[in-house]
Amino acid sequence: MKSLDQIVALAKRRGFVYQTAELYGGLNGVYDFGHLGVLLKQNIRAAWRQSIMATNSNILFLEGAILGPHAMWEASGHTQNFSDPLIDCTNCKRRFRADDIDTQKACLVCGKKAWTDIRQFQLMFETNLGAVADQSTTAYLRPETAQSIFVNFKNIMSTNRVKLPFGIAQIGKAFRNEITPKQFLFRMREFEQMELEWFCTSDQADEFFDLWVASRENFYTQIGINMDHIKLSQHEKSELSHYSSRTTDIEYEFPFGYKELEGIADRGTFDLTQHSKHSGKDLSVHDEATKQSYTPHVIECSVGVDRLFLTLLCDAYTQDTIGGEERTVLKLSPRMAPIKAAVLPLTKKLSEPARALYNELTKLGVMIEFDESGSIGKRYRRQDEIGTPICFTYDFDSKQDNSITVRDRDTTKQERISIDTAREYVMKILQR
Ligand code: ATP
Repeated sequence: MKSLDQIVALAKRRGFVYQTAELYGGLNGVYDFGHLGVLLKQNIRAAWRQSIMATNSNILFLEGAILGPHAMWEASGHTQNFSDPLIDCTNCKRRFRADDIDTQKACLVCGKKAWTDIRQFQLMFETNLGAVADQSTTAYLRPETAQSIFVNFKNIMSTNRVKLPFGIAQIGKAFRNEITPKQFLFRMREFEQMELEWFCTSDQADEFFDLWVASRENFYTQIGINMDHIKLSQHEKSELSHYSSRTTDIEYEFPFGYKELEGIADRGTFDLTQHSKHSGKDLSVHDEATKQSYTPHVIECSVGVDRLFLTLLCDAYTQDTIGGEERTVLKLSPRMAPIKAAVLPLTKKLSEPARALYNELTKLGVMIEFDESGSIGKRYRRQDEIGTPICFTYDFDSKQDNSITVRDRDTTKQERISIDTAREYVMKILQR
């Protein structure tokens, strides 16, 4: 059984993720991403964009700002409703989310039963623009990317040739002052979301809701996640967010149990109606056929880049024994793997011709790594741990027979191929 600690250790050891400002003791719930982390994130974003576009070509993209004015977040209901119940232990001064605590029992940290009353804690980060601090200059770091889409709805419709139904998709940072950030990348204070808002008529809403749930489930199969660890969970009425009338979560079985990976919500006409009311601007669309105006209905699909990053690491992390030797291997699908292939000269004496092969492979436009130092076994194990699907080894025979050895990450089987076919080999691996 893999533990979260093992996954965190691998992510740190191999430079996927670093604690932000570690030199100064770190910042709780905030992380930096190293070289391999950046590459994995890029693959996640690219796969998401592709999957959204493959489902329906009627998709437009947006990149909204992180800062938004008070009026916008008041209209969306976030200033009033976007909070979590907070409780303190007056003895040890620790702070908890009240829904994580049984107040009939003692504090798990200090063993005393000294709870405060439960109060609501605003999750949005507030700041002021410019030198004057009053409500007109109050701004918030967005806690979800969705609102940029709603407030730009009119702009987007009037500057693009689209008709309903259509979608607006966005990838970007979101911020929540989570009371207890935990479980590594699962609950962070600064994170990234990939959100699609799908606009349709109210009588199409149920059909599109089901379609998007199926399409999003399919996405996880396509990026190689083991579907035995995925399940759908329907929100009870009491669990619904202030804007939603129906929500289905796609849950993944993390080492700490089944938890939400992605939420699909029926936001109805809530957001556009609110923004129209508060801004005084008409956000309805006109139907040429019926000659009537109506407010579009919205189905939302929302998943965190970082939470999916953690999911991929958890799902791919494998420990096995090959030839009597234990190893750790990240069995990521080649499409998601940060490095697609490594070129390893058997010794440094062979670096020059091996580098020529590496230079040739980099022309494919995918990430290839060249590693010439250390024993070949150690180099294989590093590539296994970072999920590289194949390694090409250039040895003393390579010059004579114009061949190299390819080693497969999952089986560790090796075969001899002609150097001239190395490019095709990489391309073929990426189709897997
Ligand atoms: P949770 O119940 O886990 O707090 P939520 O229902 O508040 O999540 P949504 O508002 O639906 O989350 O956000 C959509 C997606 O954004 C989530 O499914 C998750 O993938 C991601 N996400 C939300 N909050 C965080 C966070 N604090 N850290 C990392 N990812 C997050």
